[in-house]
Amino acid sequence: MRSTEVLVVGAGVLGCAVALRLADGGVRVALVAPLTDRRGHASRAAGAMLGVFSEVSSHDEPWRRDVEVGERLQARRLYDDWVADLAERSGIGVAVAPGLFVVANAEGENDERELQAVADAASSHGCRAELHSWRDVPGLAPERRSPPLSALELPDEGSIDASLLLDALEGALVRHSLVEVVQARVTSLAPGPTGEITARLDSGAERRASQVVLAAGVETTQLMLASEQLEAGLPPILSGRGVSILVRAPLALPTAIRTPNRSFACGLHLVPRSGGCVYVGATNRLSTAPSVDRGPTLDELATLVDGAVRQFNTSLRHAELMATAVGHRPVTVDRLPLVGRTRDPRVLVASATYRNGILLAPRVAEILAGEVLQPGSATGHPFSPQRELKVPGGLEALTGWTGRGLLAQLTASDGRLAPGRDEELERFLQLALSSLLVDGPVDDGLRRKLARLWERAPLEEVLPLIFETVARHGGKPEKA
Ligand SMILES: Cc1cc2nc3c(=O)[nH]c(=O)nc-3n(C[C@H](O)[C@H](O)[C@H](O)COP(=O)(O)OP(=O)(O)OC[C@H]3O[C@@H](n4cnc5c(N)ncnc54)[C@H](O)[C@@H]3O)c2cc1C
Repeated sequence: MRSTEVLVVGAGVLGCAVALRLADGGVRVALVAPLTDRRGHASRAAGAMLGVFSEVSSHDEPWRRDVEVGERLQARRLYDDWVADLAERSGIGVAVAPGLFVVANAEGENDERELQAVADAASSHGCRAELHSWRDVPGLAPERRSPPLSALELPDEGSIDASLLLDALEGALVRHSLVEVVQARVTSLAPGPTGEITARLDSGAERRASQVVLAAGVETTQLMLASEQLEAGLPPILSGRGVSILVRAPLALPTAIRTPNRSFACGLHLVPRSGGCVYVGATNRLSTAPSVDRGPTLDELATLVDGAVRQFNTSLRHAELMATAVGHRPVTVDRLPLVGRTRDPRVLVASATYRNGILLAPRVAEILAGEVLQPGSATGHPFSPQRELKVPGGLEALTGWTGRGLLAQLTASDGRLAPGRDEELERFLQLALSSLLVDGPVDDGLRRKLARLWERAPLEEVLPLIFETVARHGGKPEKA
């Protein structure tokens, strides 16, 4: 059985970045992943915007926004040198395309408020955020009937070609004398006879290492379930399924363009790619049991194509479809990444970077490698996997914004219910109404009103009245 110092499971952007950083620090590393099987991986499906501030939403909890923006800013400051070094070591011409525009239009729930939140976050960190007329944004030529409202330029942000970045990382890794790349899937991990960790591979072979870094994206939880002798105490990692497309387009796009975050997703975006191509992304649908084999649905593709053509550039109608991708963004219930040592000191984790893993990669590698080289250095970091996950309990999770977000997800971009949604909404309302009438709402005043109504008129015809009573009384919709 082969033995090594650190075994890294997974060769997405995080596994590769961590493995390289460890090897640069003098650690012997084995990177284990089925390199040619790329189904469902987040990293290659990513638009790869370097969105420090453009990922801010007006309804973010302040403590979370501070942590996330702080870490993304540190990552951005590492980025250009990190990429230049990868390009040199691998011989692959990968580079950051500087700048990013956030465009507000009437299709969002309240895009201008979101732009303000982005601008405020940038200026509070002394970074540039410049308002422009949308006509100044290169590549933006939307449908004339629904012109954008404004555009915010973030010159310090940027984007990168995710595939080139991964090729460069892999190139640098295979050239490194302290790195061994093993093409296999880890089926389980267990404590070895002399205190180290044994990894069982799908090839039937076994590997030993004194420490293991879990960087298997959304498959990390499954791997830990198969590794029942280890008590890492890792919170579950869920998936934000995202679909994106790559097109060859008749438009010059020097800089990424995006809308602000919308309806539980990262908005719509166009990102420049090499060879005259443009990346169009991305959908986001939460899943507790992701199926990495499932390809894009027509509904997901239609959402992207319709949005990009109407809101960004009508000439995209003539673009040639080059590829589609599905990726699963790893995410925890508190939405913060998991980076550092778990409850089992031999097991570390680098995952759950959700919508920002491409940007965060050099920073995650810095924190994780720091913890391996100097144990205890990442203790107490907000990304620590041993933190207590702060999640609002029960109905507190449903903020005034939630209803608006759900409504936006149910409707097509013209505000009408998307095809087939009427039947789904019908079933949902049926269930919601019956549980409202049987269990009663949480608010006591409303509970009494509804009980009175239902007692007096237990007829279907009373439902519109119940709807209006709840709409007037219940919940706290956010002010526009
Ligand atoms: C559509 C989309 C758009 C995005 N846009 C952006 C963006 O603009 N900017 C940004 O910063 N981020 C973006 N992200 C998020 C970013 O892509 C992720 O946060 C990041 O790629 C996660 O990387 P990872 O290495 O953890 O996971 P992955 O890339 O999913 O890699 C997981 C790796 O683990 C391996 N693996 C799984 N199970 C095993 C096993 N049992 N044994 C061995 N190996 C295993 C897989 O083979 C793979 O190599 C986007 C994501 C998506 C899907």
